[in-house]
Amino acid sequence: MAAEILDGRALAADLREDVAARAKRLRGRGIAPCLTVAIIGEDAGSLGYVRSIERAGASTGVDVRVSALPATAGEETLRALLRTLGDDPLVHGIILQQPLPSHLAIRRLAEAMPPHKDVDGTNPINLGRLAFASGTEFVPATPMACLLLLGRSKRWPLRGARACVVGRSNVVGLPVALLLTARDATVTIVHRGTRDLAHQTRDAEVLVTAAGVPGLIRAEHVAPGATVIDVGTTFVGGKLVGDVAYDEVAAVAGEITPVPGGVGPVTNVALMQNVVLAAERASG
Ligand code: NAD
Repeated sequence: MAAEILDGRALAADLREDVAARAKRLRGRGIAPCLTVAIIGEDAGSLGYVRSIERAGASTGVDVRVSALPATAGEETLRALLRTLGDDPLVHGIILQQPLPSHLAIRRLAEAMPPHKDVDGTNPINLGRLAFASGTEFVPATPMACLLLLGRSKRWPLRGARACVVGRSNVVGLPVALLLTARDATVTIVHRGTRDLAHQTRDAEVLVTAAGVPGLIRAEHVAPGATVIDVGTTFVGGKLVGDVAYDEVAAVAGEITPVPGGVGPVTNVALMQNVVLAAERASG
């Protein structure tokens, strides 16, 4: 039986209505919710992502500004930019676009993001609060999108569900695992160093994959009826593809997110939701 599709575009459209209504209320009080994207260099994937953020801003009533620095910009220049944005009362949210040029390390820069404007949850303080499951300033947008999609799944609520997360990055895999744990799922994290990937993934009722390796997850990796959330996005021959070999996995899984049209559209709205939240908090 073919898997049911967890439709990210439909979910994004529903969420957008609420975010746009909140942005409109702020504007009615003379506050224009504003996100600034700091981007260093001209990575093609990043520039494409920034355009999609601009579209998401336009459709929700959030102003999106771009602060671009040349690929040669040093750490101190970037820190100074983040400080300036942090001090600007008209900027409510900041994201530092990754990947960074190789001479810059996110580990050394993330702390320069003021936690109350860190709308993608990059600052170690926010990530740490997520680990405490005690609430954070901002849940990172992509992990939040995974959770929102799971909220539409027949697996919801996740208490007791066996979940497997492929990938352990600070931006996706790790926070997804923390969020699933906080929802009382039993979580296994797998990564490049995992010996028998299929052995781990096949046990999962909920499989979230964020490796960035097209075709990594095949039918043999998926339990019959499992819910599969594909976060991976890689351009292959000009086409966006996920980690999942879609056709064969859709024949085994119970639910699946497509790429494109799954996690991506929800991520963009989740980011705008955080910017609006930051503006609401800043304005009391
Ligand atoms: P990353 O490269 O930082 O991390 C990848 C993780 O996958 C690592 O932990 C690595 O160990 C693991 N991995 C890689 N190859 C593996 C393999 N063969 N077997 C098992 N594990 C493996 O990447 P990231 O920033 O976490 O992003 C992951 C993917 O998600 C990328 O394709 C990225 O483009 C995509 N992404 C999508 C969205 C969205 O909104 N849809 C947002 C952010 C990232």
